Amino acid sequence: MDLKDIKTQELVKKYNFKFSKSLGQNFLVDDSVLDDIVNGAEVNNDDFIIEIGPGVGTLTAQLLMKAKKVTSIELDSDLIPILEQELGENENFSLIHKDALKVDFNELIGDEKSVKLVANLPYYVTTPIIVKLLKGGYNFKSLTIMIQKEVAERINAEPNCKEYGALSVLVQYYCDTNIIRKVSPTCFIPRPKVESIVIRLDRLDKPRVKTKDMGIMFELVRAGFNMRRKTLWNAAKTLRVDKEKLEEAFEKSGIDPKRRAETLTLEEFAVLSDFIYDIRN
Ligand code: SAM
Repeated sequence: MDLKDIKTQELVKKYNFKFSKSLGQNFLVDDSVLDDIVNGAEVNNDDFIIEIGPGVGTLTAQLLMKAKKVTSIELDSDLIPILEQELGENENFSLIHKDALKVDFNELIGDEKSVKLVANLPYYVTTPIIVKLLKGGYNFKSLTIMIQKEVAERINAEPNCKEYGALSVLVQYYCDTNIIRKVSPTCFIPRPKVESIVIRLDRLDKPRVKTKDMGIMFELVRAGFNMRRKTLWNAAKTLRVDKEKLEEAFEKSGIDPKRRAETLTLEEFAVLSDFIYDIRN
């Protein structure tokens, strides 16, 4: 089929496709949103695009018209023959039938230089996918993703607000964030219950803050936000360090142990975790 003619409703009807709620299947039916995702991702003909969850291939078709090549990763076995039938004859398209959480992205990326991830993500695995893509250290230039509005708000949150948490720290450590647009439930079939946001995460050349050991920093972040209501002191105590030395680390960092994790900036997490690193080594 001509890529321009790939339309969600028509393909759903043609193949009598049955949506699976548990796979987070809400397919896009609004052309303006498709355009905004592709333009927002700044796709050009040097780009290798990796797409997670192509559905019936509506967004994939738009990507194929602009990119050097597109590889889509789809978990649902019912969608594989549809995608092969509709998009298989495009030489710059390949399809991986797999759970995106189990894909080896290093192997997939190989020595490609301009790699961008674009996806209307299944909402039930949004956070684990973002965590995998960022922590894996893969060579992505950017991730342009449609996610639940609440998750986008958490990603973009500043200290001292209730949305600020481990996900905000993780994403802001690795990326600059750009909100592309809001998307209403009416732009999908079936309609989700929540509003969505298209956001682009541009990977920084190097992490936003310097740390002696980022593993320790993220341990501290996790401990702090797992116990949001408790003081940082109570959270930090779980990090297997001698109490007196921990007191010393807080003192040297200038960070009041009575503060809560949600008040700490990324820089402060880095400073405190560096002193914790020192007392552990
Ligand atoms: N890209 C299509 C669109 O915009 O219309 C479909 C997006 S739909 C929100 C999410 C897609 O992700 C579905 O096709 C679903 O089957 C697929 N999916 C769900 N879990 C997945 C996983 N773990 N790995 C890969 N694909 C998955």
